[in-house]
Amino acid sequence: MSKILVVGGAGYIGSHVVKALQEAKHEVFILDNFCLGHREAAAVLGCTLDNGKLLEADLLKPDSLDTALQADGGGFDAVIHLAALSQVGESMQQPLMYYENNITGTLNLLKAMHQHGVKTFLFSSTAATYGNPNSSFTNDGKIPESHPTEPINPYGRTKLAIEWLLKDCAKAWGLTATALRYFNAAGNDATAIIGELHRPESHLIPYIMGALYGRHQPDGTLMQFKIFGDDYATPDGTCIRDYIHVSDLARAHVLAVERDIAEAGKQLSVYNVGTGRGFSVLEVVKGMEVALGREIPYEMGDRRAGDPDMLVADPSRIMADFGWKPERTTIDYISKDILKWTERLAAHSWNWPAN
Ligand code: UDP
Repeated sequence: MSKILVVGGAGYIGSHVVKALQEAKHEVFILDNFCLGHREAAAVLGCTLDNGKLLEADLLKPDSLDTALQADGGGFDAVIHLAALSQVGESMQQPLMYYENNITGTLNLLKAMHQHGVKTFLFSSTAATYGNPNSSFTNDGKIPESHPTEPINPYGRTKLAIEWLLKDCAKAWGLTATALRYFNAAGNDATAIIGELHRPESHLIPYIMGALYGRHQPDGTLMQFKIFGDDYATPDGTCIRDYIHVSDLARAHVLAVERDIAEAGKQLSVYNVGTGRGFSVLEVVKGMEVALGREIPYEMGDRRAGDPDMLVADPSRIMADFGWKPERTTIDYISKDILKWTERLAAHSWNWPAN
């Protein structure tokens, strides 16, 4: 059993990582500032201020990190860092906010870890570090980790800069770091006790569900589903992405952090976490229609700035090193899991459901 701090553990992916770590019998603490995370998510996972498993701190306030790393006598075996701003479109409009939040925040966290002797770091990186795939470096269109990293939006650039930072810290002070380059996380835990709730919502699958259930955005507009562009260089003209079930993604974190705790001094490892199978937006829509037995109305809209045509992982490295493979990743599982979660949300007026 290891003592692990999950930064951003009350967020969408973070809460699924916390659940997976708990199931693997680790002692898990959540650190969150609740700007995007949900107190209720932490509570349902048994992490509260009262029992000391929930630490309310802000990556932009170094003092609060110093206190957090001393929680319950300190001595964390690892930190898993998922607290970031992560919307491509927003990053194009507010680059300074992205650079400050993502890079300065991580810098502060690493400084505090260095000071407290925590030497294992698992980082939520992204496929957005690659930019537009270059066919000279892809395998059948799939992106291996050796593909050049030329992000085309500020979000991807902040994550890439952090990977460099990790490499330098690994060399300088023996940090063992792993960057997991996520492709498109989707779905939720099969129990639907935790799930995805963004305000506003912008991600494809929850957006479709919100539109189907008549959800409104925080500014009062009714969600109406639009496909962002049908003139991309793909067979049906809509963007292709590699959707990975969040529970499969969470399991990858458990494997990586356990390996890194056991084998210190490995420096920086980088892994794609995706399935190797891409779906166009239209294919997702059709797949969800079949799974849900409902028609999904849509309008064809303009391109969204910052979107590459196609992002599909070559996941061979993580499969070879960890024996990891996706188990719940199908549009069918994703749709049915998110259906349960959406019905709970809708029944609670789009607030986090009381459990
Ligand atoms: N997308 C869309 N309509 C929406 C939301 C997303 O057509 O309302 C498209 C988007 O352009 C991209 C894909 O769906 O091609 C996945 O977008 P998402 O925001 O879910 O994830 P991203 O790829 O930006 O991380």
